[in-house]
Amino acid sequence: MEHSATLAILIDALSWPAVETSGFLRRPCPFRKPVRTILGYSSAAVPSILTGQPPQVHGRWSYLYYDPEHSPFAWTRWLNLAGPLIHNRLVDNPVLKRVIAGWTARRHGYDGYFPVYDFPLRYLHRMDHCSKHWDFHPGAFDCPSLIDVLQQNGLPACFLTYPMPEEDIFQRCLEALHPGGPRLLFLYLSAVDALGHAGGPVAPAILSRLQWYEQRIQEILEEAGRRGIAVSLFVFSDHGMVSIRGTVDIRRRIESLPLRFGKDYIAVYDSTMARFWYLDADCRPHIRRSLAECEQGRLLTEEDKSRYGIAFAGDRYGQDIFLVETGLVIHPSHMSRRLLQAMHGYDPDDAINDGIFLASHPPAIEPADITDIFPLLLHQLGIHP
Ligand SMILES: [Zn+2]
Repeated sequence: MEHSATLAILIDALSWPAVETSGFLRRPCPFRKPVRTILGYSSAAVPSILTGQPPQVHGRWSYLYYDPEHSPFAWTRWLNLAGPLIHNRLVDNPVLKRVIAGWTARRHGYDGYFPVYDFPLRYLHRMDHCSKHWDFHPGAFDCPSLIDVLQQNGLPACFLTYPMPEEDIFQRCLEALHPGGPRLLFLYLSAVDALGHAGGPVAPAILSRLQWYEQRIQEILEEAGRRGIAVSLFVFSDHGMVSIRGTVDIRRRIESLPLRFGKDYIAVYDSTMARFWYLDADCRPHIRRSLAECEQGRLLTEEDKSRYGIAFAGDRYGQDIFLVETGLVIHPSHMSRRLLQAMHGYDPDDAINDGIFLASHPPAIEPADITDIFPLLLHQLGIHP
């Protein structure tokens, strides 16, 4: 075959146990291994795949951070005039906040995935958001991404991603595949993440979704063969998925201290991390002491932050960060009111959080971390920056 193409498929939150249980793509992809993820959620891990860099270099981590001067939500402070009419659980709900986030994004011309989940509206005007630009557009990050490098090198590529329905992603991939067409076809599939949260890492719904993916991928490979195109296939995920075995109520612990949210401190309770900014420096030791007494997690040290690649200038994403043990979730949190079956965003040193890497042949660069996928794909495409 004289034509070749690289098919790269990113499956959000596909875990090693799901790959092993299902035997997903065993025949077309004999090269298989788990790969270490980064500390953070897809908001940071997908950018790490696309740039080959840790969060502190590409700039993305957890969505919300304290920065009143640059908050795109500044306008929401007017809602506070409504007082208790709006500051109650019924009105201040995730649906209303989805509308507010959508409106804010449109008003500022943001095209990124821009959720605020269940962060309290009363304090939203003091928060900024890291995901203003769509990951798959040029110039999305603080450093060059795969998209930028391919563009600079004039290499034709096709990125097919969420929110396009997955049926359409595979269909469009099939249509784009022709001699003289894109050299890289990059597919981003996100359904497995939601299925994993709802049913666990190896839920039947995941296994049947993987079976459906395998059929679609097989069709693409067969069609490529008929069209005389040799396809190199790489399938990978940003992180794994871990069954939840318990909850930690960090909020109650902190709110039992004689300190005021919004006056003394601001906290974001992600599902596996609690992040704190101190408006009154005197309250820091109290919060730190209380967190140190919590045995279901640990306060990250400066050494941890450097090792995890999250040593952001000015402690952008939190002056203190508390990470819960793998398998626990912070509940209640600012992420979800429902308790889910499985979660990710734990210590990447625990191998159970690993993402996966499958390939049709042993790659020139053997990936150990998700950040190795970027140089590996560039090498495969003959780009040596
Ligand atoms: Zn997820």
